[in-house]
Amino acid sequence: VDAASLEAIALATYRRAKRDPGRPMSTFALARAVDVEVLRLRDMAGAPAGRGTSNGKRFIAVKQRLPEAYARFFAAHELAHFLLDEEGYDAEDLETCCDYLGAALMAPRPAVIGLKSAFGLDPRAIAKEVGGTETMAALRVGEVLRIPLAVVAPIVRVRGPEEWVWPSVPELRRLARLAPRKLPRGLAKTKLTDDPRRVLLVADDLTGTD
Ligand SMILES: [Zn+2]
Repeated sequence: VDAASLEAIALATYRRAKRDPGRPMSTFALARAVDVEVLRLRDMAGAPAGRGTSNGKRFIAVKQRLPEAYARFFAAHELAHFLLDEEGYDAEDLETCCDYLGAALMAPRPAVIGLKSAFGLDPRAIAKEVGGTETMAALRVGEVLRIPLAVVAPIVRVRGPEEWVWPSVPELRRLARLAPRKLPRGLAKTKLTDDPRRVLLVADDLTGTD
């Protein structure tokens, strides 16, 4: 499924739940509103989350002792599986699609647009509003508003317009280590708190001001 279809499924899910997609809601509540039970289990073997059907009722199980932002995202990922299943979607990129849709359920497009205009590109403020990690909040801003940005370390993830070309991964890692004042013009750096090594690079000077 392409990104636009996944964004549309996220919006449709808020409509089913009779909620405004401009106001992000807990993915536990969202799941329950579309008839998926959410269980928090103290002991789970292996994965931090899973899903199934019991007596005809769909359920998501999420490990209890997890930071809230991760628990919500794992629930969102499992909910995305049910939603894509309803669409009859089952392809090789299913897990990637569930990650994308999971993030879109936590931070639907209208909410991201509203939060970006309220807070600017402040991953901490946006993460707080959507109940997610700063990394997830930053990546959502990049993909919804097509702002070129990169989250660097341990893995490198980039978002933004298709025509935007980032330097190579080793070069991005090098840029991420530079002091902010040593960065090339138009590139801004913010530390993210999800991981002590993690940095957000934003190409924020695309408006042709120079
Ligand atoms: Zn999955």
